[in-house]
Amino acid sequence: MKSSVSGVCEYCPEKAETNLYHSNLTLTRTDGTEYMGLDSKLELCGECYEKMVISEQIEYWKIHMAEERNRSS
Ligand SMILES: [Zn+2]
Repeated sequence: MKSSVSGVCEYCPEKAETNLYHSNLTLTRTDGTEYMGLDSKLELCGECYEKMVISEQIEYWKIHMAEERNRSS
């Protein structure tokens, strides 16, 4: 199977070893543009990959905590 990675991070202009990240979120890039991450694959360098995992976890917890609040009220 042929790999589709180009070796360029899609989030920062870094040329690095990239990983494909399967995103489920709409993300706002550092330059303010929005990335519609729904059901798409992002090619990210290790650093951005980690940031993305963390921000997705934060989003997850925000949603989760909002749901908890709604349940208890
Ligand atoms: Zn990057």
